Amino acid sequence: MRRVSPLTLPFLSDVGSLSSVIRLDRTSEAEIEAASRVFPFRIPLFYAGLMDLENPLCPIRLQAIPTIEELSGTGVADPLGEERIALTPTFFKRYPGRGVFLAAAECAMYCRFCNRRRLVGRDFDPAVFREKTLAFIEGCGEVREVILSGGDPLMLDPIELDYILSRLRKIGHVKVIRVSSRMPVVFPERVELHREVLSRHAPLWFIVHVNHPREVTPEFIEAINGLRDARASCVSQTVLLRRVNDCRHVLARLFELLVDAGVKPYYLFQLDDVTGATHFKVRIEEGLSIMKGLRASVSGLCMPQYALDITGGLGKIPLEGPYLGPKAGDSLHVENIYGERGTYLDDGGESRCNSCGICKS
Ligand SMILES: *Cc1c(COP(=O)(O)O)cnc(C)c1O
Ligand code: SF4
Repeated sequence: MRRVSPLTLPFLSDVGSLSSVIRLDRTSEAEIEAASRVFPFRIPLFYAGLMDLENPLCPIRLQAIPTIEELSGTGVADPLGEERIALTPTFFKRYPGRGVFLAAAECAMYCRFCNRRRLVGRDFDPAVFREKTLAFIEGCGEVREVILSGGDPLMLDPIELDYILSRLRKIGHVKVIRVSSRMPVVFPERVELHREVLSRHAPLWFIVHVNHPREVTPEFIEAINGLRDARASCVSQTVLLRRVNDCRHVLARLFELLVDAGVKPYYLFQLDDVTGATHFKVRIEEGLSIMKGLRASVSGLCMPQYALDITGGLGKIPLEGPYLGPKAGDSLHVENIYGERGTYLDDGGESRCNSCGICKS
């Protein structure tokens, strides 16, 4: 694999260069221009190479190219209420034991539905708060897991990433480090740049954001193999997106390809209510029906958890079912994916822990 310098990021970020690559009419050009004044765009040449150049509804194009629909709709700047759970400007903690460390605010691509578009590709520079956040994590014995996110942590120079990981590895109470990234999808070559650093701090968990089977390219697979060689355990997160992947056949193919590549599908997210992305929303009822379809057709290994994340400190809410019906006495009514009903005799005795050492009887 060709080595790229950390600074070489060949991407398209203005209408002129975009129209030299894909066919755009005058109206689309004007609309892209208008939308990108509010939400800038950036598309790596590699990702642009996956686009269907003739079809405006190509699922790769829809995720990358601004549309006029971004200027209308509902949605808020900070749909997860992260400002309210920020313990430093770059550390968001909603759960006991784990928190999100915003290590970078740049991405190789600006996804059109990004839930952090208030920060990504803007003037915000997380490096300013790096020491503050590291010191906070050092002092907060409760944090056993750090989720490095962004932006994309692989946008950092490998030396900077190494520095952050080294500091985190020196903290006794931090046992688990996750790296959240879309790099294997949008600019897979760059993953190679960070492989040595990731390997030095192994074992890590790597969460790749991937939304469509066409994103599982040979280059993606090579990048994942590199990460696995570096002893990173790979899982995925997918955003359910209207016209992009709101079909059980598309998602079945995606999740099977991921499992084939050694990536366990982890989350399927209902779209966050972020500004300028309402046109990507899929109804939850539809999402549930897709999940049911998936259960009927793919291996359990291919099944992610469908979840909704809303503001107000509620965190992630699992969405699936309803497989559990009412209970009549000890008889619990259940329903399988085909709508066939059965019962389970739910008559276990009272539960009381006798071994953990924390519960008091
Ligand atoms: C999503 C998220 C996590 C991780 O949640 P998991 O269910 O463990 O993957 C942690 N902290 C915050 C603030 C999050 O939004
Ligand atoms: S990769 Fe993630 S953080 Fe970056 S633009 Fe896409 S959704 Fe936002």
